[in-house]
Amino acid sequence: MQNALSIGGACKHTAAAEDFGGEMKRADRLNVARAMAVGLAGLAWANTMAVAAPASPSPAADPPTNPLWSEQKVRNYLPDMSWPEVEDLLKRTDMVIIPVGSLEEHGLHGPIGTDFLNGTEQAKLIAQKTDVLVAPILMPGNSPYHMGFPGTITLSAETIEKVYFEAVQSLIKHGFRRFLLLNAHGGNAATTRFIVDRINQETPGVAVELGEAAGPFMSGAYKAAVAKGAKEFPEPRVFDRHSGVGETSDSLYLIPNLVNMKAARTAKMTLPPHLQAMLPQVIAKDRTANLVFLAEALKAKETGKHTSTREMSDTGVWGVADITTASAAQGKVQTETFVDASVQFIEAWKKLRPMGVN
Ligand SMILES: [Zn+2]
Repeated sequence: MQNALSIGGACKHTAAAEDFGGEMKRADRLNVARAMAVGLAGLAWANTMAVAAPASPSPAADPPTNPLWSEQKVRNYLPDMSWPEVEDLLKRTDMVIIPVGSLEEHGLHGPIGTDFLNGTEQAKLIAQKTDVLVAPILMPGNSPYHMGFPGTITLSAETIEKVYFEAVQSLIKHGFRRFLLLNAHGGNAATTRFIVDRINQETPGVAVELGEAAGPFMSGAYKAAVAKGAKEFPEPRVFDRHSGVGETSDSLYLIPNLVNMKAARTAKMTLPPHLQAMLPQVIAKDRTANLVFLAEALKAKETGKHTSTREMSDTGVWGVADITTASAAQGKVQTETFVDASVQFIEAWKKLRPMGVN
């Protein structure tokens, strides 16, 4: 948070400070009115106090509302809505985006909540462009291989699956029918797919994984962004995965004041030698090498594979790209491409299967 003002958080913080100033002026007026109402004795006391302490109370001393609260109400974001607003939304859509996130280390510079927060913010942006509900259910996900770093919380696949499935059953009771699970953490991929399948096999609901659904629209969305003037960011020629340049750029765009770029530095990586030897093929996107590499890499310390993040990286970042090259501009292109592709899929789904079909 030290660098909040230097990385895009300035406007938000300034606005909050101005709000407090305004509120305190109202509070001062109230104090004067109260002093006028207390009678002579009260006035004498008030005057004495005024001489003893001429300064008016500090604006920060007694704010009229929670000084830490700065969130704005976001349209179609379930935690912010009243039930009549949900009832009203149900007349317009039966679709829900459910972010599937994690609470896990994101290197020296990224917040533990990166995946939950980025996934939720992406979902909110999508819902502003196509009228659907956004319902976050859980903050933690499946992250056993990050447990070597303090703060990581990991839940078993069974627990995650059960919680999301029961939450979806609740939403189905209210009339929602279509579910787009937005998985924001690689470690949740198999669990998310299983939840999608359970919804489809066991309930009246219909579900898809949004990353998969948006896939066919991604390159078109990216080309459209570039045609409109978005800067192109070539893929790194070095290994760049967890909390690397791509993900940090997303965070710098989506949750800027939570990223501490002053702490960012390139990780020292120590992969098991046979995995290290595969890296050139992995970077070249050889599918077989990638499959073999990922089957073994990023696994819990207890497996004895020596591929938990603490065993492979001194910072928790899994990659050797220069993180200081991450930028909000790159995050903006990445985010807008995904949002655009997701909206295109949702609009296509609305046409292919109109609301109300049972
Ligand atoms: Zn992440």
